[in-house]
Amino acid sequence: MKIHWREISSASNSFAALSAACEVHGYHLEATKEPRPDVTCYSLNSISERIYRDEIAGADCITVVGGPHASACYREVAGYADYVVVGEGEYTLPALLSAIEEGRAPPPGVATASGYTPAHHTVLLDGYPPFSDVKGFIEISRGCPFGCGYCQTPRLFGRCMRHRSVDEISRYAARFRDIRFVTPNALAYGSDGVHIRLDRIERLLQSLNGRVYFGTFPGEVRPEFISQQSIDLILDHCANTRLHFGAQSGSDQVLRHLRRGHTVEDVVRAVDLCRENGLTPVVDFILGLPFETDDDQRATLDLVRSVTRVGKAHIHYFMPLPGTPLQNSRPRGLLPETEKVLGRLALNGSITGSWMEHEIRFFRHSPHL
Ligand code: SF4
Repeated sequence: MKIHWREISSASNSFAALSAACEVHGYHLEATKEPRPDVTCYSLNSISERIYRDEIAGADCITVVGGPHASACYREVAGYADYVVVGEGEYTLPALLSAIEEGRAPPPGVATASGYTPAHHTVLLDGYPPFSDVKGFIEISRGCPFGCGYCQTPRLFGRCMRHRSVDEISRYAARFRDIRFVTPNALAYGSDGVHIRLDRIERLLQSLNGRVYFGTFPGEVRPEFISQQSIDLILDHCANTRLHFGAQSGSDQVLRHLRRGHTVEDVVRAVDLCRENGLTPVVDFILGLPFETDDDQRATLDLVRSVTRVGKAHIHYFMPLPGTPLQNSRPRGLLPETEKVLGRLALNGSITGSWMEHEIRFFRHSPHL
């Protein structure tokens, strides 16, 4: 049976991880720019879904679709794809391929037009290589105990953090000169996701040879995990000149609504610590959140201005994502003064992002999605 992977740039890390997982079970995924028999697999987010929906519906082969959008909207996607892999695919995708090959019913974790049985397994990261011939970033942790209202990560991977072992990470990191990681929060490595374990981060960093980038693209950190001790570890072992974290709002009221689990004060302290230690803070913000008042938006704008005095801000415009608590919320508009200030800051290079074409930037997150 020939199995293909539809090349989609936003899903390149999923290709690396899933082709490695399929290889473990004896299946080779060949990259393709069009659907091809016998089977073509897709990984879709809520933007790419609109682009590939018709192609999948008209494909002259068996189609298998996974990814964050397919997982959140599996009934809808099963209306035009043959099989939908719901949630993580390392175990489910090879099991499905084997069922297709042998003419059996799909395994749990797969939806079709005729029904869905949820998966009853969780993937242990050490059970699968992070990549094989198709190289990708090394996913060191999966799952997130926080429940930010706009984010698909805990809904897709659960709220219990799982980690790849130090030995496995250093084995795969040895294949890179520049070492970068996929994780919802690099400084949560080895922990329950809430209580930092500096000893485990140190053991990981000590095991690596090469230029290590930790807490920057594509695996960022949360602001309250930034302390003098965590920065010291990064400065001692890594090549970072930046530290990337999410503030999302300059209003504590909005942060509470979002269930972010940190305060504006945490963000200000993290920015100061970066500055004092010679790291450039790169800070994410979301504007247009549904419960943001004019004053909340002004407070965010003030925080953006203060961040850009010493670092960079990435601005996203809120986009409701399926499967999240805010999926049915409508974005609110930007104040004229917000557009003016952002335009000015963008011109001098202090901010990036696309708050006008919001869908493009909102998907900066998570090569693991
Ligand atoms: S935004 Fe980050 S911290 Fe919040 S739920 Fe998503 S992954 Fe977790």
